[in-house]
Amino acid sequence: MSKNPVVKEILDGFAPTWALNHSMAVMGWDIETQMPESGAKARGMATGQLAMMAQKATIDIKPLVERAAKTNSLDDRESGIVRVLQRALHYYTRIPPELVNDLEKTTAEANLAWRKARKESNFKVFKPHLEKVVNLKLDIADKLGYEKHPYNALLDLYEEGFTVADADRVYDILIPESRKIIQKVSEAGVFPSKHPLESRKYGTEGMEKVNEGLLEILKMPKDRFKMGVSTHPFTIGISEDDVRITTRYEGKDFKASMYGTIHECGHAIYHLGIGKELQFTPVADGASFGIHESQSRFWENAVGRSREFVNLVYPLLRKNLNFLSKYDREDIYYYVNTIRKSYIRVEADELTYNLHTALRYEIEKQILEGKAKVSELPEIWNDTFEEYFGMKPPDDAHGVLQDVHWSWGSFGYFATYTLGNVVLGMIWHKLGDGRAVRESVESGDLTKLKGWLGTHIHRWGSVYSPKELQRRVFGEAYNPEHLLNYYEQKFLA
Ligand code: MG
Repeated sequence: MSKNPVVKEILDGFAPTWALNHSMAVMGWDIETQMPESGAKARGMATGQLAMMAQKATIDIKPLVERAAKTNSLDDRESGIVRVLQRALHYYTRIPPELVNDLEKTTAEANLAWRKARKESNFKVFKPHLEKVVNLKLDIADKLGYEKHPYNALLDLYEEGFTVADADRVYDILIPESRKIIQKVSEAGVFPSKHPLESRKYGTEGMEKVNEGLLEILKMPKDRFKMGVSTHPFTIGISEDDVRITTRYEGKDFKASMYGTIHECGHAIYHLGIGKELQFTPVADGASFGIHESQSRFWENAVGRSREFVNLVYPLLRKNLNFLSKYDREDIYYYVNTIRKSYIRVEADELTYNLHTALRYEIEKQILEGKAKVSELPEIWNDTFEEYFGMKPPDDAHGVLQDVHWSWGSFGYFATYTLGNVVLGMIWHKLGDGRAVRESVESGDLTKLKGWLGTHIHRWGSVYSPKELQRRVFGEAYNPEHLLNYYEQKFLA
């Protein structure tokens, strides 16, 4: 794909890394969908070795990357390749292997402790492990280097160039306004806080047919895409022409399965839309976690939970879920849009969701600043939760212990969920405040919508940084005002 001789050499040198990443992706899919539990140990050893080989192969091309970075004749794609490799090299060369090892071991133990702690709702079990994880992450932030705030080094790992200043700006606008909207929605009483269908049981067979029908409506390409089943749905891009998702069947409250499928299809559509010419290169991936999440949430919420989409899928639902004979399109629309304050982030609706990530962002910031101690986390969590939601978690399992992320050492991850929502709002605004979305869904033909996202976002992979991509598409980056307008129009109009 490149005429530049140095970039050509870089891409040749990248081939082994590409092959290793490809293999690890297949193994990752297997772990979640097929592997018996006891296979975990050997699999962990094997992937650990492959990851080290990929790291070494990347370091081997460092001189070429440095040489290419000095030339000024690179086009956008070539510059993107150099930028992405420089980021990887920055991490690999600054973080010594012993630290990587230490983090692996510590988080593996922390994860076990977290499971036990959550089960018993006992923070004390998790506390010493979390303290170790936090210290290691601070060490990593120091080694990576940062301006102003250690958190900036960690946020950047998930969202390139995203800083505490950016996050503060987003949340300072989003949270107070969201709380006002939530208050008004609850007072208006149009969107219910509960729905009888939430406890309705379904048979897996019928639901599988619904999900297959959804894949057809979303025009997922059968020869390049596959759907499996796992407890926690996910998407994995193995190559340009091999993208896989999973969905889940819990046996009741069918919207969880339905919107799990649509959400993951959003991630898959992004991956399937990456430009062919980027294949096998370091930029054949999403621009960032936030941009990836904007795609899944756009399809799940802006498209999937719209009136037009409910109308479109209603015949499919009626045909395969017999118990829906008592419910019309309007009933289903309100069922998939129940709004309520809840303790658990993963059960939250699209409107209250950002409050959950804001709480985690504030806590992570305080911990990394040294303003809060790990031992104080349950109290800080509960107090902040009460401030945002007006209620206190009954126990730590419904509070500070609910998420797996900190046990993995993922500090800086939660904010990207909200960035996904923020970018969803920007897309929605760009598409005529949702007009083009409604028209496309009403016509039943979603190809136009996919085409727009493909042209403006998907085809570029990670050629541009997430901020640069947004500036090119929207003329601005991470503006939460559009999301607030989307909420107002949807829930208060
Ligand atoms: Mg997602």
